[in-house]
Amino acid sequence: DQAPFHNSFVEELRGEVAADTQPRQVPGYCYSRVAPTPVADPHLLAWSAELGTLLGVAQPPERGPAVAALAGNLVTDTMKPFAARYGGHQFGSWAGQLGDGRAMSLGELTARDGTSWEVQLKGAGPTPYSRRADGRAVLRSSLREFLCSEAMHALGVPTTRALSLVATGDVVVRDMFYSGDPKPEPGAIVARVAPTFVRFGNFQLLTATGELDNLRALADYVIRHHHPGLGEPSEAVYLRWFEEISRRTAVMVAHWMTVGFVHGVMNTDNMSILGLTIDYGPYGWLEPYDPAWTPNTTDFSQHRYAFGQQPQVALWNLAQLGRALLPLVADVAGLNQALEVYRTTFTATRHELMRRKLGFTSRQPEDAALLEDLQASLVASEVDMTLFFRHLSHQAPALLAGAEAEETQFQHLIALVSYTPEPGAVHEALLGWLRRYARRLRQESGSAEAIRAGMLAANPKYVLRNYLAQQAIEAAEAGDLSGLNRLMLVLQTPYAEHPEHEELAAKRPEWARDKPGSATLSCSS
Ligand code: AMP
Ligand code: MG
Ligand code: MG
Repeated sequence: DQAPFHNSFVEELRGEVAADTQPRQVPGYCYSRVAPTPVADPHLLAWSAELGTLLGVAQPPERGPAVAALAGNLVTDTMKPFAARYGGHQFGSWAGQLGDGRAMSLGELTARDGTSWEVQLKGAGPTPYSRRADGRAVLRSSLREFLCSEAMHALGVPTTRALSLVATGDVVVRDMFYSGDPKPEPGAIVARVAPTFVRFGNFQLLTATGELDNLRALADYVIRHHHPGLGEPSEAVYLRWFEEISRRTAVMVAHWMTVGFVHGVMNTDNMSILGLTIDYGPYGWLEPYDPAWTPNTTDFSQHRYAFGQQPQVALWNLAQLGRALLPLVADVAGLNQALEVYRTTFTATRHELMRRKLGFTSRQPEDAALLEDLQASLVASEVDMTLFFRHLSHQAPALLAGAEAEETQFQHLIALVSYTPEPGAVHEALLGWLRRYARRLRQESGSAEAIRAGMLAANPKYVLRNYLAQQAIEAAEAGDLSGLNRLMLVLQTPYAEHPEHEELAAKRPEWARDKPGSATLSCSS
């Protein structure tokens, strides 16, 4: 009621008016106009106050018209709900048409600062793109998407946002990944928010089906609305735009690699054209630092989307997008040059982020080697990345002072952050690295306090540990939202101390190591 939508996507691009939600191919169109399917008893479980303030939307009461709108039960006059048509490469193979099978965009809202935001309901019922699935989402996966989107934003990682988490009052049946048995679960809907939800796969599908008018129209739409600085679309502008996509994708993945985020399903339909983290499915956070780790049980044999693969996969995905843009950009060398921009931006951004985490403001010749060597040491000692950098921040003043007790300090640090802290475990690589680091830190000229403060502002205390998300889910499923609320609080200010919530910053307990949901997830949600 309080929020008038506008509908540039619907007005400027070709769409069909969906007569029904019969699964079908939708050639010739960029989207289908659809209607959400009402749910039994929508009620609000969680709200992002920060995003609400930006959008000028006040937190609604638990039940009522606003929450009905956030569940698809109420479609206001200014909303024109649509499901976007896109395709994608899934696990390296072209999958053809996919599309918004359970997401529906309501339209766009103008925020207080004049920026425009598309609002999308995830789990609002079937669309022509639902294929054999139900168009719904379960509380488990919706809570994970809600929390992680907002946590990533607070960490400074480019991401889609989440405004609300609404329980539907309906039951949704899912085949559980560990038993294979159908299990009834509570349903939920997230209202997610981004400047646009267009993905690499929107362009890929239009090129694959030879819909070059739609391809050009969609490219022009994204450039005019989201990159007005590039100028009026032309072949040269399309190329500069692809370069910008490459740059943004590189910045996003560099952030993932420095916070320990594993997306889990980097299919090209899950790659935002704006370089935002999108589609929070079986994602996970590194606990022991391990480049081969993936949370996605569907990917256990291949490890295609494991933590350490992400930079390569993003590049591969960009190459697929570049291929899809060939009808607009004949300059193949230029497209390849843009992929080079991805490589250089990724390396530079990752180094810059790591330098901040390590408290380096000056540049020294040994820095590159020091950054590279850290990774092997973290792997060898099964180090919790988040805890490592946070404790290192606190220890920086002592290291700067060149305390005699340095070796004891290192042993203490390792005991705090390693998942193999037993005496007798070999930590030579990490010890050697810490000695080098301490010498390097002493070349900094800033005060100990300034260095420590800078590091604490770059090294979060709170990330969405897999088992913590799982605990909040199990409590929420039993009607207890306190875990969700606590996590929301600390994850919105992840660099601050929350002395009353030390347990949310603790090392993963041993019992959570291989517990389904706490460590591993499948795509089914
Ligand atoms: P994802 O693995 O989340 O990227 O989803 C891949 C495709 O499956 C997309 O087209 C989704 O819209 C679709 N999809 C996933 N879950 C559902 C569901 N429960 N109902 C309908 N479509 C779905
Ligand atoms: Mg997806
Ligand atoms: Mg998904």
